[in-house]
Amino acid sequence: MINVTKSFLPPFEEYQDKIKGIWDNTWLTNNGPLVRELEDKLKDYLGVKNLLYVTNGTIALQIAIKALELKGEIITTPFSYCATTTSILWENTKPVFVDIEPETYNIDANLIEAAITDKTSAIMATHVYGRPCNVEKIEAIARKHNLKVIYDGAHCFGATYQGKSVLSFGDVATCSFHATKVFHTIEGGCVICKDDELLKTLAHYRSFGHKNDDYFMIGINAKNSEFHAAMGLCNLPKVADIIEKRKIVSEKYDELLDWNKLGRPKQDIEGFVYNYAYYPVRLESEQKLLEVTEALRKEDIVPRRYFYPSLNQLPYLDFYNPCPVSEKISAAALSLPLYYDLAIKDVERISHIINKTL
Ligand SMILES: *Cc1c(COP(=O)(O)O)cnc(C)c1O
Repeated sequence: MINVTKSFLPPFEEYQDKIKGIWDNTWLTNNGPLVRELEDKLKDYLGVKNLLYVTNGTIALQIAIKALELKGEIITTPFSYCATTTSILWENTKPVFVDIEPETYNIDANLIEAAITDKTSAIMATHVYGRPCNVEKIEAIARKHNLKVIYDGAHCFGATYQGKSVLSFGDVATCSFHATKVFHTIEGGCVICKDDELLKTLAHYRSFGHKNDDYFMIGINAKNSEFHAAMGLCNLPKVADIIEKRKIVSEKYDELLDWNKLGRPKQDIEGFVYNYAYYPVRLESEQKLLEVTEALRKEDIVPRRYFYPSLNQLPYLDFYNPCPVSEKISAAALSLPLYYDLAIKDVERISHIINKTL
């Protein structure tokens, strides 16, 4: 079977080597030496000052909302993975969906101001597929209206904008290191922030809200283990090669797919270097998407509907913010298989099936 993604695994002996020390010091979790080493290496790699390694990218969003003390309404994107919305709901804040740009599929910064009310506390947007939001405009709006900015950067590892990691924008940025992402630690994620005080607060939230006998707030357990950090330490030196291999696969799709019948998000964003996190295409209609999916499934090839449904249409919401652009794109967007060792002959086969079906 060819799945939309396949987790990278380092050579077994490398992982074995990394975890040997755990048997010597019996330090399995709670801010152990491997977790701290990974945090330092991630800060170096991403060029950011403050970073905390956590158990996953969803809890990263949740503790960000807590630490920024967000209340009321949070302006957000309807085109993302459901965790972007559910983390807002989980923290008893209200998502207010603002439609996306048809070119980038990111939140349309020109529509944000009209959605601001006296209850708005923040903007939480996703850099979808790793492509940066209009960070300049969003920052200007946030400053003018005194709002916080959180970026869900789950797709951004290794992507840069204006020479900096895409994760370096916003009051807080989060990333996911889930097994399906470009860089992974099996499960895992991080929170990144500029403010040193905020980092301390986030660290307390990560660790039950207390330090020794001092109890500060209602925290949660978002600490990750030495075993997860060890996987990260094995995978981090391989990221450049993983991205390079994904680039080769992506460029083969670029060359072979019939662009008269397919759309896709804008490729060239000035100052942006892609990490090849996804290979999204946009079909003419949902009907066409279903036909292509069926044709691929017959050959045991499994693309995924990233991202469907449009989050403003999640069935458990008790309100509806119309987002016609997101709803339309979401119905017709399909991510094709893309991973480091996907064979070129398989890219040819997949492209052929799609072109023939169209
Ligand atoms: C993967 C993903 C998440 C969730 O990350 P986990 O580490 O699986 O919790 C959140 N947001 C987006 C946009 C994602 O793609």
